[in-house]
Amino acid sequence: MKIGILGGGQLARMLTLAGYPLGLDFVVLEPAADACAAPLAGHVQTAYDDPAGLAELAGQVDLVTYEFESVPAGAVEQLGRSLPVYPPANALATARDRNNEKTLFNELGIETAPFAEVHDLAGLEQAVGQVGLPAILKTRTLGYDGKGQQVIRPGDDLAAAWNAVGQVPCVLEGFVDFDREVSIIAVRSVSGELAFYPLAENVHQEGILRLSTCLRDDSHQPLAEDYARRVLERLNYVGVLAIEFFQVGEHLLANEMAPRVHNSGHWTIEGAQTSQFENHLRAILDLPLGSTAPQGHAAMVNLIGELPEEKTVLAVENAHLHLYGKAPRAGRKIGHVTLREATPEKLAAGLNRLNKILQ
Ligand code: AMP
Repeated sequence: MKIGILGGGQLARMLTLAGYPLGLDFVVLEPAADACAAPLAGHVQTAYDDPAGLAELAGQVDLVTYEFESVPAGAVEQLGRSLPVYPPANALATARDRNNEKTLFNELGIETAPFAEVHDLAGLEQAVGQVGLPAILKTRTLGYDGKGQQVIRPGDDLAAAWNAVGQVPCVLEGFVDFDREVSIIAVRSVSGELAFYPLAENVHQEGILRLSTCLRDDSHQPLAEDYARRVLERLNYVGVLAIEFFQVGEHLLANEMAPRVHNSGHWTIEGAQTSQFENHLRAILDLPLGSTAPQGHAAMVNLIGELPEEKTVLAVENAHLHLYGKAPRAGRKIGHVTLREATPEKLAAGLNRLNKILQ
């Protein structure tokens, strides 16, 4: 069985690593020559919207999945004519647009921060009246890791904010004074089997995920699973879906969803019985899903911008180093480290050691 992946970055790389033991082969479609999944897979090196490249991929594989949501709709449509493509096109169309995803959340009774669509400067002024300040102006599409976002505080110049995001369609979102940020990784297979991982607590720095810690037996788990189930079933979803929430007291406000394996689920490689990567593959191949039960107490730290010395990281007991084979560059995710420990105390001590190394 050969699986095509649109995108050849670290998520594609970790999908291939999870797929080899299952006897799977992979081809990635990715424009960059130095795609970090390419050494592990066939590589169709072309633009995502190149019909000839997409036809070449379709000719080589049995089904297609993707590692990012900004895949052109036309590409999914073309591939979908000859092959199964998972997650489904409607999930992609919803998740790539912040307005669509927040509208879906509210339709399904899932709370969000107050938000309003913005198409021009006059619309921004109106949206500020509706949502209030402080607020965050976010581009509807193509935003990730805090990119395409502008915080607006009382007294700020709205025209400057509108220029800063490039005068493209946006949503204005009320600023949430959250207790914690958490995310759920959920899975649904072709036959409709469902599985949910324990919530992860996420800490961001400058809009980029830095630390994810598996929360065992958190009181918000049932609500997060209920919300995820509503989305999975409405979209007739297949594969792994991540939903990020702001937790405010007993409430979970959905911030965004990702129709793919997610950075806040990397801890599952060592910290869960079955990783999110393996379960994504099982789901799209309609195989029984693996147990999502946590193993020990786990947390993941992203390596962003520069690489620490390998031997220093590996000297930390129970540290598992994952390097993506990407050139270091400011703000770029180039690897991660997962710690799995027997107790929360040991995990906290290990994270302390790791943080000193990574500072
Ligand atoms: P996003 O690209 O929407 O995931 O935003 C990146 C990060 O910015 C989030 O993980 C939060 O830490 C912060 N952030 C985004 N939206 C809000 C909001 N409405 N209120 C408070 N913080 C936010």
